[in-house]
Amino acid sequence: MHYTEMSKQQLLAEQKSLQKEYDKYVALGLSLDLSRGKPCTEQLDLIDGLLTCIDHNACFSESGFDCRNYGMLDGVPEAKKLFGELLDIPAKNIFVAGNSSLTLMYDTVCRCMLYGTATPGSTPWCKLDKVKFLCPSPGYDRHFLICESLGIEMITVPMSSTGPDMDMIESLVAADPAIKGIWCNPKYSNPDGYIYSDETVERLASMKTAAQDFRIFWDNAYVVHSLYGQEDALADIFALCRKHGNDDRVYYFASTSKITYPGAGVAVMAMSDNNMEHAKRVLTIQTISYNKLNQLRHVKYFGNAENVKDIMQKQAAIIRPRFDIVKQTLERDLGDKGIAHWTDPKGGYFVSLYAMPGTAKRAYALAKDAGVVLTRVGATYPYGNDPADSNIRIAPTYPSMADLTSAMNVLTVCVRLAAVEKLLAE
Ligand code: PLP
Repeated sequence: MHYTEMSKQQLLAEQKSLQKEYDKYVALGLSLDLSRGKPCTEQLDLIDGLLTCIDHNACFSESGFDCRNYGMLDGVPEAKKLFGELLDIPAKNIFVAGNSSLTLMYDTVCRCMLYGTATPGSTPWCKLDKVKFLCPSPGYDRHFLICESLGIEMITVPMSSTGPDMDMIESLVAADPAIKGIWCNPKYSNPDGYIYSDETVERLASMKTAAQDFRIFWDNAYVVHSLYGQEDALADIFALCRKHGNDDRVYYFASTSKITYPGAGVAVMAMSDNNMEHAKRVLTIQTISYNKLNQLRHVKYFGNAENVKDIMQKQAAIIRPRFDIVKQTLERDLGDKGIAHWTDPKGGYFVSLYAMPGTAKRAYALAKDAGVVLTRVGATYPYGNDPADSNIRIAPTYPSMADLTSAMNVLTVCVRLAAVEKLLAE
């Protein structure tokens, strides 16, 4: 029965029974974590071949270059080719770097702030009175933290299953030259698992912007992270920007953090020729070269883009049952209560739960007291503030199946208890 249809008597009875269940969990002294979007040990073990696939002979690139030494700022050519194949972008436009795409994103925003962009006449953004970014939300907290730490004003744009609200975006960017960028995590978005529709991508690539040096920060972190085997297509932003004469509009990012090893994988950016030339002028001051042995190791291990996709399907087989536990528990415990809804991602690393508005913080606190750590409520919105106090990000991949089952049981009791409390207080 929907909680909203319950009488006060019925709600009090429900509260009593939920409180009893909750107290039972508290007494167990659990210590569980649903907050970490990272691969589990079985996934890491799957990649063990990466640890042993290079030796002395394999330290040389195809051209004979000794990759143990300095050089090749934009990456080993074979690595550029592999990522070019994977992202369907010309190898010459791929910059293969170190271990983290987040670092590349942070550095790219900083370059714009300090040096401006490749667009002729672009002023360093830090010299402007105000710089604003559009932030489709809920989104990835670390994108928002980059803006917050650099004093960039964030404008929240609502997300839907086809991507961010394009009507709102088009009218904002057309009118306000202080809007210089937008964060996009277009495929299996963190935390909703949504994929931008073809129309959304085309509108982003073609829209008129008051700022000539407007940039899309295209974080395709989950580009090959399908859970169910099918290739969920995402329109090609790189080609579409070119088609509409906006070649320099997009900075594209990806990494193998959730393909091989988080923190020890390979990160890439893809850029137009102009953007590449502009970025390299600064990057050459910042570093002499990245870890090319790790790039070569990834090339030797995978060989080609098809093999990357095969490995991702093996990974999916490991984590799919975990996503199933999350979805089944939510359906079982919240399906008929009318107080919550959640996403049904076909890939990526998260499920997004929307608790009854005004109750997510309370559910978070209840879960914490029962020994279940969740991603901090609000973190998925700019300035850490979810105006509806509703979104809870669930990360199913890392805990064991048993721990995940227990944590989900606790979470759904907390979400129900918080809703009943609110309804009784109204
Ligand atoms: N982008 C998104 C959307 C993520 O969810 C994450 C990690 O959770 C990252 C980037 C971090 O990527 P990297 O490890 O390459 O820095």
